Amino acid sequence: MAAAHPWTANTTHFIAGTWTPATTGRTYPNRSPWSGHILGHAAAGDAEDTERAITAAHHAFPTWSRTRPAERQRVFLNAADLLEQRATHVLAALAAETGCGHHFSTVQLDFAVKLLRQAANLAYRPAGELLPSDTDGTQAMAVRKPVGVVAAIAPWNASLTLSGRAITGPLALGNTVVLKPSEEAPYTGGTLWAEILHQAGLPAGALNVITHAPGEAGAVGDTLLASPLVKRLNFTGSTPTGRRLAEKAGRHLKRVVLQLSGQNPLIVAADADLTHAVDAAVYGAFIHQGQVCMCARRIYVERPLADAFTERFAARAARLPTGDPADPATVIGPVINEWALALLDRRVKEAVGLGAHVLAGGEPAPPCYPATVLTDVPDEAEIAQSETFGAVVVVETVDSAEEAVARANHTDLGLAASIITGDSRRGLRLAATLEAGIVHVNDQPVNDEPQMPFGGVKDSGWGRFGLGFAAEEFCETQWVTVRDEPRTYPF
Ligand code: ADP
Repeated sequence: MAAAHPWTANTTHFIAGTWTPATTGRTYPNRSPWSGHILGHAAAGDAEDTERAITAAHHAFPTWSRTRPAERQRVFLNAADLLEQRATHVLAALAAETGCGHHFSTVQLDFAVKLLRQAANLAYRPAGELLPSDTDGTQAMAVRKPVGVVAAIAPWNASLTLSGRAITGPLALGNTVVLKPSEEAPYTGGTLWAEILHQAGLPAGALNVITHAPGEAGAVGDTLLASPLVKRLNFTGSTPTGRRLAEKAGRHLKRVVLQLSGQNPLIVAADADLTHAVDAAVYGAFIHQGQVCMCARRIYVERPLADAFTERFAARAARLPTGDPADPATVIGPVINEWALALLDRRVKEAVGLGAHVLAGGEPAPPCYPATVLTDVPDEAEIAQSETFGAVVVVETVDSAEEAVARANHTDLGLAASIITGDSRRGLRLAATLEAGIVHVNDQPVNDEPQMPFGGVKDSGWGRFGLGFAAEEFCETQWVTVRDEPRTYPF
């Protein structure tokens, strides 16, 4: 489908409502991960460009934060309609720019449209509450106010969705935003959002987008963190980068929302429906060629079901269609870049060298890495320790789901988890003991909806995305009191 709509675009920054090249005039090539072709050139921004974007957002704040709710609501409803109307173009762009296949592109688009429609309602969210006071004659209020400029740093893997949620909640609450998409997704994670919201009527300066060449994120990120005009930063990406940003944010006493890596378990109990368990595991491990932060990375199976599950799961994995992301039949498309492919290859080979067995896949097919199932992976293998962003999953037999929970909790990460069991009450009891920000019982771990409290525990992050929760992250609460009569003081 997308092949019929070849997609190319040159992109620039978007600052103060204007499409703007980098101050230095530099650009970098935006390449297709599938074909390697240059899709266009993007602005290679730097600290100076970032300062300009921050200034634009700062100047836009007084007007946007006081814009009437009906007007704010209309912008987001318009944007949802525009995005829907451009569906074919958006799906083609996601395939071309990020190697995203038809299914996951439609998941992203559906999320983004719902996100905008739900955000429209935030304009009418109550702005605070009245609080009882023991001081006679005093009326006390907790008043929620937008903070000012919010910075957003987003990754490439679900570029549309993750940039969308990084900007939409903050904007809908009356903040202005500087968005830095991934260097791998300057269009679908940046320019596209600016186009849509600008066309929908968002005033100039409320959303600004800065792009940069590979390897040059640091200058943009550091400028966002150091600027006293930027009041919050939200970041979605890997734990090592999030940790670096949080350390710097600490120095500036800047609040950050971090949504970081996962090492997500899927636990299959012996009483699970085998067909459902296999279907769920195939989807949860291999959607978007395993490049979703929520993907199942480790599957623990209670011993009585282990052989049957593992055999069927590996056979299904081995048959998954691999190749061009523009072909709707493809399940496993290209890995985002050569570096990521090499990392997958190295980690699988390291695990095999330490005694792991390959039940499916296990050899790169550039630019793809086929669905790969490993077993007997020792704990010291890198793939057992840290998030490996790709279609590789480890299967392990356990004596009980409780043992699986203990094994699953034995990691620094805690994003998503899932349990498949014939006894959903046992599933809920196990969920309570899992150290994860998100747990699904009788489902696989890859789920998201704009209103849900999305986020991790431990080294998977701080804070929650989710429109109902955005106000906690992107507003300041002011305690205000008012008296209509003089008060008697003791001296
Ligand atoms: P991923 O593996 O998903 O690319 P990263 O954490 O490397 O995870 O990247 C996520 C986002 O963080 C991207 O937008 C990337 O450009 C950005 N990023 C990477 N390094 C830095 C940095 N030093 N400062 C700010 N942003 C960064």
